[in-house]
Parts: sequence; C-alpha cells; structure tokens
Amino acid sequence: MKSVRINIHGTVQGVGFRPFVYRLANELNIKGWIVNSSEGVTIEAEGIEKNINDFLLKLREEKPVNSSITSFSFIDSSVKYFQLFEIRQSSNSQKKTALILPDIAACKDCEEEIFNPEDRRYLYPFTNCTNCGPRFSIIEAIPYDRANTTMREFEMCDKCKAEYENPFDRRFHAEPIACPDCGPQVTFYDNEKNLISERHEAIVKAAQFIREGKIVAVKGLGGFQLLADASNEKAIKTLRERKHREEKPLAMMFPSLENVKDFCEVNSEEEKLLCSAHAPIVLLRKKENNFIAKSIAPENNYYGVMLPYTPLHKILLEVLDTPIAATSGNISDEPICIDNDEAFEKLGGIADYFLVHNRKIVRQVDDSVARIVKGKPFMIRRARGFAPYPVITDSEVPPAIAAGGHLKNTVAISSGKNIFISQHIGDLDTKEAFGAFKKIIHDFQNLYAVKPGTVISDLHPDYVSTKFAEKLGLNHFQVQHHYAHMLSCIAENKIEGEVLGICWDGTGFGTDGNIWGGEFLKVNEDKFERFAHLKYFPLPGGEKAINEIWRTGVSLLSSVQSKEEVKNYYSKHDADTILNLIEKKINSPLTSSMGRLFDGISSIINLTQYSSYEGQAAMQLENIVDVNSEERYEFELIKSQKNNFDIEWRNVIKEVFFDLKNGILKETISSKFHNALVDLILKVCNLSGMQQIALSGGCFQNKFLLEKSIDMLTNNGYKVYWQSEIPINDGGISLGQMMYYNFLNKNRK
Ligand SMILES: [Zn+2]
Ligand SMILES: [Zn+2]
Ligand SMILES: [Zn+2]
Repeated sequence: MKSVRINIHGTVQGVGFRPFVYRLANELNIKGWIVNSSEGVTIEAEGIEKNINDFLLKLREEKPVNSSITSFSFIDSSVKYFQLFEIRQSSNSQKKTALILPDIAACKDCEEEIFNPEDRRYLYPFTNCTNCGPRFSIIEAIPYDRANTTMREFEMCDKCKAEYENPFDRRFHAEPIACPDCGPQVTFYDNEKNLISERHEAIVKAAQFIREGKIVAVKGLGGFQLLADASNEKAIKTLRERKHREEKPLAMMFPSLENVKDFCEVNSEEEKLLCSAHAPIVLLRKKENNFIAKSIAPENNYYGVMLPYTPLHKILLEVLDTPIAATSGNISDEPICIDNDEAFEKLGGIADYFLVHNRKIVRQVDDSVARIVKGKPFMIRRARGFAPYPVITDSEVPPAIAAGGHLKNTVAISSGKNIFISQHIGDLDTKEAFGAFKKIIHDFQNLYAVKPGTVISDLHPDYVSTKFAEKLGLNHFQVQHHYAHMLSCIAENKIEGEVLGICWDGTGFGTDGNIWGGEFLKVNEDKFERFAHLKYFPLPGGEKAINEIWRTGVSLLSSVQSKEEVKNYYSKHDADTILNLIEKKINSPLTSSMGRLFDGISSIINLTQYSSYEGQAAMQLENIVDVNSEERYEFELIKSQKNNFDIEWRNVIKEVFFDLKNGILKETISSKFHNALVDLILKVCNLSGMQQIALSGGCFQNKFLLEKSIDMLTNNGYKVYWQSEIPINDGGISLGQMMYYNFLNKNRK
C-alpha cells in the first residue's frame, strides 16, 4: 500500500476535473478523497504502488479538455485505510488564487440534446454541462460553487440534482446546471416593455421580427447584443444610424460553418478558432457576394464572423437560418448593458424588440475578436472566452493594480505569479466607460482578494486612468506607453535578456513631452533607451487630426511642397488655416507617430480624408495593398548626437506625391510604402546589433505588415516575437505596466 497527497494548481475547477479524478480513482481501485482548494485541487490517494503510479501519470495525461495544470506536486502520506474515494466539500479559508474560467461555448453533447425532441432539455436555451457554459460572467466569488454564482437563485429540481450529485454524469457538479423545469427562462418584449411571448415562442418571435427587418436586443452571455438581418441593407443602415456607428464594420453570426464558407475564405486554422470553445469573432476574408448588405463592412476586405456559442444563439440561428449582424448592446462608446432594466432604458431607442432572460450577468464580457496571423490566433479584443486567464510570470509580483491606457482599456491585477488581465473595457472617453473601469478594478480586487499596495499607470498626465491612479493613495509608478507595449510582448513571450522593441501605434506620451508612436526601443527589463524614431512632424489641431486626417496630410505634404502647391492640392479643405497653425506653432504638438504617417499618406493619395474610428485610414491603406509588388520607397536614417537614429520620411512623401501625379495606381503606392516599412525594420535591426526583436503596437494589427516583417526578420536570422494571446494594441498595456513593476521588484531584491 502506498499513500500520496497531491496538490494540483491551474484551471482545474469548473471543468469536470473532480469527476474525472473520481472515475480514474474508481478505475484504478484507489481510495481517499479530492477537494477543491482555493488554488486548485488537493487529492489524498491510497492504493497499491503500481496503481498510484498509474494514477499520477493519468491525472496529467488524461485531464479534461478545458483544464490546464500550472503546477503538480505530491508528497508521501501515511496510509489511513480509506474505505472509498469521495468528493469532499470545498473549503474557502485559503488564499483565493484558483483560476476562474472564462465562459465556454456550448459543447457538442449539449448541442445534440437541445436539438433532440426526445431529450428533456429539447430547445432549452440554458443547457450546459461541466464541459461548457457560463463561468466568468456569472461568478461573484471563488471558490466556484453554485452558491457563489447568479444561478443560486434557481433551486435545482430533483432530476437536475440527481445529475449534479452523480459522479458518473456529465453534469456532476456542473454549477450552472439547469433544465426547463428549474432553470432560467427567456421572454420577449417590445421596446415599451409589453410582454409578447415566453419560452420557446419568445425565440421564434425574435427570429420572425429579425426576418421582417426589425432590430432585436438579445441578452446574451456577457451582455446585450443588437441583432439584425445581415442581408437586409435597410435594417443594417437603421442599426448604424440609431447606434451612431458610421462605418466601423459590424460583426456577424452565422447559422453554421458551411454557411460561413459561402461568404468567406476559411483556412484550417481559422476554422479551428471559429469552432473552438473560445468561439471569438474571427476576421475572415470576404468572398464577393450580393447577399450580405454592403454596409456591414464597407471598404473592408474582411468580415468579422462568429458561430452561435450559447444554446440560446444556437436555437435562434437554427430558427432563422440566415446570417445576422450581431453587435454590442451599447450606445456608441459606452460599456455593454448587462441588466434588463438598464437595457430597456438605454437601448429602447435602438432596438424594436427585446429577447431577455432572468439569469443575472455579474460583469460585462464583450465578444472577443481575433484573426489568424502566421498560423496562430492573434487577439484584437480579448474578452469572452479568454478573460480572465492570467499571464504567469517567473517570480511573485507583490499585490498591485495596473490601470492600463486610455483607448481599448484593460486593467490588470497581480496575485502571486499570476497577472490577471481584465476583459476589454473600451475607450475611456465617456463617464459610463470610466465607471465600468472603476467597477472592474474593484471587482478584481474582491474576486481575487488582493489588497494592492501599488498602482501602475501610463505616463500621460491627462489620461483619466492616470488621474485615477494618482488619487488612490498607493505607491504610484508611471510607465511610458510604448515601453509598456514592449514589456507586454516580453511578458507574453517570456523573453529573457535585451530586446530591440519595435513599437508602432497611434499615439503615446513620450518622456520628452512629445507624442511618440514610431519607435525602436532597446529594452532591458526595467530600463529602456530610445534607439530610433520617426522624425517629428507637427500634428495641427492635435487630437482633431486623428479624425480629420487631411490635417496630417497637409502637415506632411507641406514639408516637401510649396505652400501654394499644398493649398492647391487641398483646395476642398481649409489648408490655409492649417499651414498657419503649423507655421506659428499653435496647437500643433510634435509627433513621431507611425499611425499618423499612415493617416497622412491615406490623405495625400486621397484614399480618405476622414476617419470615423481609430485606425480606419491605415486599414484602408492595407486593404488596397498589392501583395505581389516588390517595389518600394526608401526611408533615410540620420544619426543623431547620441548614436541614435532619426528616421527621415520626407523622401517617401515626395515620391508618393510624385507617383500620384504620374498616375501610378494607389495600390502600387500602398505596396511601395508597406515594403519601405519592412525594409526600414530590417535596416534598423541591423544597426542595433541586437538579435531578439519584439513587435508591438496597434499598427501591427496590419496583417500584411506584420507577417512580412516577421518573414523578413526571420529570414535574416533574427529571433522575432510578437503578441498573439494578448492584444498587440492598447488592450495589452496593462500587462506591460504590471511587467514593469515585476522587473522593478525583482531587480531591487
Ligand atoms: Zn456541454
Ligand atoms: Zn432541473
Ligand atoms: Zn499604443
């Protein structure tokens, strides 16, 4: 006889781990017990030595699909001659670091049940099991037990209870277990809160009105969504008008993978991501078609596509049998609604009808957005299905909060070696978004029982996140924006030693008070040095130039052409005023931003003069790139006093303008610009003497630029890193800020 005490940490709660262990113990004739601890699970196992060894091996090899083990340890224990193997009640006295799972898309088994007329869960929209269903969006506290979720309001019926208590059932300890007799239900209302129908009839009605061109608000997993028939141009235009969302592409939900393939190119990696338990919105290349409304994704080569991920969505799409636009249920930049009353109040002016239910959502969790880059998932918006999985560091980080940036904000909290990154919060431009930001910081501290002594924020003095951090009365560190981007990439990839970080994005406050964004930084843990950057240019009107990109066009063009020529060329705009602002240095901050250089070129070639959402002009420039062209412009590198380099772009602007005047296609100009950037990267890397190259910043959401840069550097012998699980855009800033604090701590010891 042998007896061991096993401690397993990681994602082992809410994934069917205990029943798996129970079944394995029975199979191997092992006695003892298992209990959920706050850090994972603890097992006491006794049996004959060979079986114990098999048990230790199989625990790791045959673990449930959604589980992951971050640490596995065991020690010999005294034999107590247990009579059976039992699952013991959770204790909640220990430290709360057990990993909380994201919400998981409905599994195949549950899907079969909801479409099987013989099954007791036939057409039941809240069907789930230990392998799938809501988690993060319904958990109020850990450990993960039904009493700590919003499902505690529903008392299990006898049948559900029997399943819940049977270790051989797929629903053994499935905390959100429910059925039509005891669980949540859907109801259907008009926008004046008049009840129209209930239960399955509610879903049928919702489908019927969507077909008729109406907009229906649906309470989903992590918040409300607004749905409309994707093939109905009029309905989509109405949705855009009412939501004040002019051109930013709308995501779609398709009834099936086969249906997706009718309208999009789908390779095997994209298919895998689309059908995964994370079930994000995946960007897929459009196929030419006349079915999907043009205003879904105007001037864009990609559609944002997802498959139904809850039983509710699956049933609705089965009834509808046609793709729908599915966008976040919010007013422009506000957080998504999660509460029924709040939704009626806020979305009443957008949606004609409401499909709601009575299971409470604890926190907003938007749909995640991802694409495939170099064969790997590449996160653009990280929320449902991914948050709050942590990034794990190699040393313990003292309790701290990272407040993130301003756009695409996320926050992070440290607990032991875990850095928990929040779900996407969004741009902190509105009072409501700032409210959500504060709420999530509070929420994370409670959930993980962390009392932070330190807060880390951006360097920008005017960000609301920085001001908030200042007022907390904790130790406060500020991290330069682009340096934080690089640290985020370093943290995700666990890069050791010095790296050359290439950080290209829209804007970030620099240590010299200028607006940075076209940066090559030498980064070594808690230190960085600016090695090269785009030569500064004035941004007339500051923030205004981000939307009115012709201002940047005027600024760039005026550095290579006479005033008269610029005024002539920009005759439709008030170039005179802009030239004056620049000349007199009025409200024209200096910038080295790569994002603005993209804007300026889009304007100069008259691709677009306005941008209605962040990155729009750059995206349009990428869309027209001729992937087969190897022609290029050339950036010049000018050595500055400190052995660093200024990147001279004037020659590029001059040639762009020359090409344009000579009737060269915009597609060719775009290719020449993109190829020049890839060349520039290689040139600077060669000068740097560094071998490890890290890429981050919003500009690298440009798939063409990112993939071509990776290939070029790899072919030249560099070790290249970029971001995939954590957004390369400002959604990754909070992780970078926390990583700074981690390095600071480590190096001070
Ligand atoms: Zn399931
Ligand atoms: Zn039931
Ligand atoms: Zn940024």
